[in-house]
Amino acid sequence: MPGPGEVVLEVDVALTCATDTKMLRAGSHPALGPLPAGFGHECAGRVVARGLGVAGVSLGERVVPGNSAPCDRCRTCRRGRPSLCAEPRFLTGAFAPLLLVPPRIVRRNLLRIPDGLALEIAAMAEPLACAIRGVERSGAGRGDAAVVLGGGPQGVFLSWLLARRGCRVVLCDPHPERRERALAFGAASVAAPPDGSGALAELVELTAGGADVVMVAVGRAEAWRQAFDVVRPGGEVNLHGGCPPGGEIHLDAHRLHYDEVTVRGSFHHTPETLRAAMAILSAGEMPARALLDAPIGLADLARSLAAGGDKRPVDVVS
Ligand SMILES: [Zn+2]
Ligand SMILES: [Zn+2]
Repeated sequence: MPGPGEVVLEVDVALTCATDTKMLRAGSHPALGPLPAGFGHECAGRVVARGLGVAGVSLGERVVPGNSAPCDRCRTCRRGRPSLCAEPRFLTGAFAPLLLVPPRIVRRNLLRIPDGLALEIAAMAEPLACAIRGVERSGAGRGDAAVVLGGGPQGVFLSWLLARRGCRVVLCDPHPERRERALAFGAASVAAPPDGSGALAELVELTAGGADVVMVAVGRAEAWRQAFDVVRPGGEVNLHGGCPPGGEIHLDAHRLHYDEVTVRGSFHHTPETLRAAMAILSAGEMPARALLDAPIGLADLARSLAAGGDKRPVDVVS
């Protein structure tokens, strides 16, 4: 039985995520508790038990639990930055048949799945919410040339959201199939990453002289550095894909000043962007299903995470 304020979910769908791979490789992550810790943070399921005092959610209801909830009391929360909450409550352990959702997440971030929205699509609310947060943090607007580095799920979500804002998006990825896919997510054109002089020249041409906004959806220092080759004077670089601790890049300090280049980071999501993500997925305008690879069983999970790659639905009872 769940304790006061808690809810038990029967997990119908859990998705793999590049963050799970990072957690596995590093053995630690801000969202992962002390080891041994449950894995899996993107899921959808049904409420099968409710603790005392749980209101607003009924048994059998289809829901997505946010993988965190802010405290709403710390200084950063009070200053309107709940994604940076000093005392967040995280939730992992979705790669299991049942998931106990703690009271704060039940209160703050247990999202009802709209009728007609498939569970495996609804489970993408969390990663999409992070991308929404990233684009909200940017100054991207109508008519801007936007470059997205990285064509994984975050890259294509960013691309779709930037295109919706009226940007002309160029997405860069070394893999042709990812570039092809990005065209269905709003990218006006695609290119190889600017890691060679030819690719950089092509990108400068595609953006008519450089990007107003570069969003880096890759957690590698080399990609972060490339972003500064692509941004135009007065432009902005948003470091959206997290690097491992201790990662460093060297920047041309002269350019940062004389070209007034803005540098931002964007991390995680907020209760508002989680809800906005569910609304976008429910509207069905984004071809989100294209991000799902073939399902796997629990027995294949560790191997699949170690290999990285796209999102895979995990059959949590096999
Ligand atoms: Zn994730
Ligand atoms: Zn807080």
